[in-house]
This record gives sequence, C-alpha cells and structure tokens, in this order.
Amino acid sequence: MPADPAHLPPANWAGNLRYSAARFHRPTSVEELSALVRSAARVRAVGSRHSFNALADTTGDLVSTAGLPRVLRIAPDRRSVRVSGGLRYAEIAEELEASGLALANLASLPHISVAGAVATGTHGSGDRNQGLASAVLALELVDADGKLRALDREADPDLFPAAVVALGALGIVTELTLAVEPSFQVAQTVHLDLALDRLAADFDEVFAAAYSVSAFTDWAGGRAAVWTKHRTDAAEPPGSPAGAVAAGTPQHPIPGVPAVNCTAQLGQPGPWHDRLPHFRAAFTPSSGDELQSEYLLPRGLAAEGIARLTALGPQLAPALHISEIRTVAADELWLSPAFRRDSVAFHFTWVADQSRVAPLIIAVEEALLPLGARPHWGKLFSCTPSQLAEAVPRLADFATLARGLDPDGKFRNELLDDWLSGTGG
Ligand SMILES: Cc1cc2nc3c(=O)[nH]c(=O)nc-3n(C[C@H](O)[C@H](O)[C@H](O)COP(=O)(O)OP(=O)(O)OC[C@H]3O[C@@H](n4cnc5c(N)ncnc54)[C@H](O)[C@@H]3O)c2cc1C
Repeated sequence: MPADPAHLPPANWAGNLRYSAARFHRPTSVEELSALVRSAARVRAVGSRHSFNALADTTGDLVSTAGLPRVLRIAPDRRSVRVSGGLRYAEIAEELEASGLALANLASLPHISVAGAVATGTHGSGDRNQGLASAVLALELVDADGKLRALDREADPDLFPAAVVALGALGIVTELTLAVEPSFQVAQTVHLDLALDRLAADFDEVFAAAYSVSAFTDWAGGRAAVWTKHRTDAAEPPGSPAGAVAAGTPQHPIPGVPAVNCTAQLGQPGPWHDRLPHFRAAFTPSSGDELQSEYLLPRGLAAEGIARLTALGPQLAPALHISEIRTVAADELWLSPAFRRDSVAFHFTWVADQSRVAPLIIAVEEALLPLGARPHWGKLFSCTPSQLAEAVPRLADFATLARGLDPDGKFRNELLDDWLSGTGG
C-alpha cells in the first residue's frame, strides 16, 4: 500500500510534538494493515493525537486505524459492545445512548480514540470507577508478524492483563469489546470555595459525595472547586461538600474561562455521556493552549500529596491553568497507573511553555515520587528509567513480554526504549 503523505498529521493535538514519521498510512482493511506491519521495520499506531509526549511517534511508519471498516456492534445480551479501535468515545456514546446503554465512565473529554485512551491507561474519576481500560473484555490486534491476534479476558487470563494498557508496544489494536450497562442519567453540580485544608481533612467524605467527583485548584489560593457528578438512579442523595458553596452559574475548570464548552451543570440531569466528561464533544476541550502531566498515588496518601503540592503552590501556580484531583479504583492491568491500588490522581494543566514547565515537573516529581507516584503514560513526565522501574511493579515483566512478542522491536520507539531501559528491557 502506498504511504499517504496527504494524511500525515504534522503534530499532536497540543502542538508541542511534531511527528517524525517517514511515512503515514491510513489502511482501509485489516489485510492492508497486516501487510504493512509485516513489511515495516519500525511501525507505531496513532489515535486521535491527544497525548503530550512522543509515545505515538516513530521514525518509520505511523498508522492510523481510523480508516478501517467501522465496527459498532452491541452484543445480543446487551452487556458489551464491539468497536473499532479508531473510533472516538463521543461517536460510541451517542449510539449506545440511542440504544439505552452506557459505558461506566469517561475521561474529561470524549474526543479521544478508544484504542489510544486504553493504551495509555486513561481514566475519569470516581471512588468505585476503574480506568477506561478496565471496561475492555476482549481485543484484536495485528502483532509483529502481521497476524491478527484475538485476546479475551476470560480465555487469556495470563496475557490479557498485560495487553490492554500496552503503550502500543504489542501491536496495532483493530477492535475492542467494551462492557456496557443500562443507560443512566447524571446531574452535575459545581461547589466553589472549599478550603484545601478541609479537602485534605475530609478527603473520603468529599470524594464519596457522588458517582464521580473532581476537585480543581491552583495550589496557591488555598481553595478548591469540587465538581460532583451524581447518578440520579443512586440510592443515596447527592452529597454537598461541607464548607463549599454551590455555584449559581456554569463554571469552566479554568477560572475566568467561559463555560460554553463544558457539559451542563447546575444539577440539571442529562445522559451519562453528556455529564461525565467535563467538556462537550462538539467543542475544543480544556484550554487548547496547554501541556499536561498527571501522577497517581496510593489513595491513602491523598492528604500528604495535597500538603506537598500546597507547599509548592507559589512555584506552580504562575505556570498552571489549573490542577485537578480525582480518584480511581484499583485494577489488575499491569501498566495501569492504578494497578492493584485505589488511587488519587493529581493532574496539572500547564501553560504551553515547555521550558517553564520542565523544572516544575521535576519539582512535582521530587515531591510525589517518594509517595509512590506513577505517571500518566500519555502526559509529560521526567522520571528516570530506574524511577519508572521502581514505580511500576510489572514494568520489567512487560518489557520481557514485549521482547518475546516483538523480538525485532518493530513497535518500539526511542521513548519506549528509554522507559523500558530501567528494567533491563
Ligand atoms: C484536553 C485533554 C484532556 C485529557 N483528559 C484526560 C482525562 O480526563 N483522563 C486521562 O487519563 N487522560 C486524559 N487525557 C490524555 C489522553 O486521554 C491520552 O493521552 C490518550 O492516550 C489519548 O488518546 P489518543 O487516541 O489521542 O492517543 P494518541 O495520543 O494518538 O496515542 C497514544 C498511545 O496510544 C497508542 N495507540 C493509539 N492507537 C492505537 C492502536 N490502534 N493500537 C495500539 N496502540 C494505539 C499510540 O501508539 C500511543 O502509544 C487528556 C488529553 C487532552 C489533550
């Protein structure tokens, strides 16, 4: 198949990375994709380009699966949906909702591709909500030999937990089966002006206030805004964090930015897919002019994490649009940042100035890595390979597995080589 320079995406969504691929491809059949992978020396998949680092990059062939035949098939028992990996959550959500079905959770934006989000361990918030990859029941990928390989949670209990959050290192995912449930309604309310001290002291209570809870702060003003997303079918009524005041007008996570691109608030119920993300599908999410970093820590260390970041507040705030605190339930996926531990996630939406942000990322890591922080794979971090090997318990096993399945390193790139080098992989 000829490479398609016309479709070469020059840069990622944030514009901080120019892809260095020699060729770009958008195959229209799995056979075409298989042939491409078979003949390639270096090949990587790219999704919707929302990652902030060079994980999706390659010097060889960059492949989008968005041109493969569209699959969106609800199982007869209505407990799962089979989707193409290149579809975006927004597209799937609309069709699921029309069929009376829902995904358990979504990230802050529905614009991202399913395969790309799953590959990096993308998550939303909620004490009982795992990352989005935990919804994956089965997947199909083109492996290093160009063969289509099916993996199933039940049938492949050893390989499957390694192959879902896989950083694109095991192959190019063509289709995934996701768990679904009956559709539900969510009412979103923003509560302003909660003292950070109080948030730390009442952490469990604040985050138990609704199905999905996020807190936004700049770490310097000593206050937080708490966004609660309450399932209207919940047995409990929605909680309201003591000491905060319900906002009377719609809010954007970044103070002062108009809320027009945000999902409806003020407690107005609406379908899950139009409330769980902070940002509406039809609009640019977040600020658009930004960089991002995120770290997941053991949930029990939330108050200590808040104290350490508050101490850094005067340094961080001038380079921050906003910071977000979320909770993520433990899962069993090897490279998931919430692997085997309920987690608190500290996210940073930085200004789009890499030279200003780089030393602040180091400062944040000096504060959080000793608490067991694990970085988000799709965002910016500067952990050394040995720090990564220490933070991610199954990284060495993953490196061994990847070497076995892809002995020529077809799916590797410079960044992956670096990340895995601390494991000897
Ligand atoms: C505004 C904004 C908000 C965000 N909010 C959140 C959030 O709420 N929670 C969160 O956790 N993250 C969030 N992120 C990060 C984002 O979810 C991740 O970066 C995610 O990986 C993006 O998916 P993508 O399709 O754009 O992946 P890309 O950036 O295109 O690729 C990421 C990785 O996935 C791999 N990949 C892509 N497609 C395939 C495939 N078919 N087969 C195998 N591997 C593949 C690539 O090789 C690469 O390694 C946000 C990002 C932005 C820009």
